[in-house]
Amino acid sequence: MAANGEENQSQIGRHQEVGHKSLLQSDDLYQYILETSVYPREPEPMKELRELTAKHPWNIMSTSADEGQFLTMLLKLMNAKNTMEIGVYTGYSLLATALALPDDGKILAMDINKENYELGLPVIQKAGVAHKIEFGEGPAMPVLDEMLTDVKETMDPYDFIFVDADKDNYINYHKRLIDLVKVGGIIGYDNTLWNGSVAQPADAPMRKYVRYYRDFVLELNKALAADPRIDICMLPVGDGITLCRRIK
Ligand code: SAH
Ligand code: CA
Repeated sequence: MAANGEENQSQIGRHQEVGHKSLLQSDDLYQYILETSVYPREPEPMKELRELTAKHPWNIMSTSADEGQFLTMLLKLMNAKNTMEIGVYTGYSLLATALALPDDGKILAMDINKENYELGLPVIQKAGVAHKIEFGEGPAMPVLDEMLTDVKETMDPYDFIFVDADKDNYINYHKRLIDLVKVGGIIGYDNTLWNGSVAQPADAPMRKYVRYYRDFVLELNKALAADPRIDICMLPVGDGITLCRRIK
């Protein structure tokens, strides 16, 4: 028992050094998934964007390759066409989405930072999917508010919305997105396991930003579990993604 516990501890420790791209407790198992199923099937432009992003100082924020593959599969299964992404960074999840959508598919992509989007944009253009993307620079909330007041009657509801931005606003996003996603559509909230901190005691040692956002993630997870308007499924992919399917 003790030996096992120690081994787990050291594996978790080792894993944290490589970042919070996966919550699996063995690096070897995660490597196995990447090497067996993910990297061999990763589209060339996504590989290029991943490698380009790896050189950027904030690369820890980028969606992992296995999560990218999951998003692509989900979007294809859903036949998604009209989508939204809040939180683009250099565009790895955006490119996964753009490649999964049909040629006339649409993504409204929003980020307060346009520079990072522009780092990845040449790769997206080369992949031939940039025409599906409408990028809006600035905070997402006012855009959502405007959509809800101005165009509610004429708006084409969203099939899929990926939320991967300011974690302290997820609950506020949810209040709006639930009216923007179609019945049967999916909202995916990313990082809902927040580096595993959601299951750690409040006094456990945590990096400053992990501690800061932890309470917001905990609140969100409770609120989603209690929301009768959605089916939910929390997956330990990447840093945790909670899929919410609007049922009414
Ligand atoms: N999905 C991306 C990762 C996003 S990282 C990928 O796959 O690489 C989080 C992003 O949210 C950052 O780029 C940050 O600039 C953006 N962000 C933070 N606050 C925001 C806000 N209020 N509105 C829109 N984007 C925001
Ligand atoms: Ca994320």
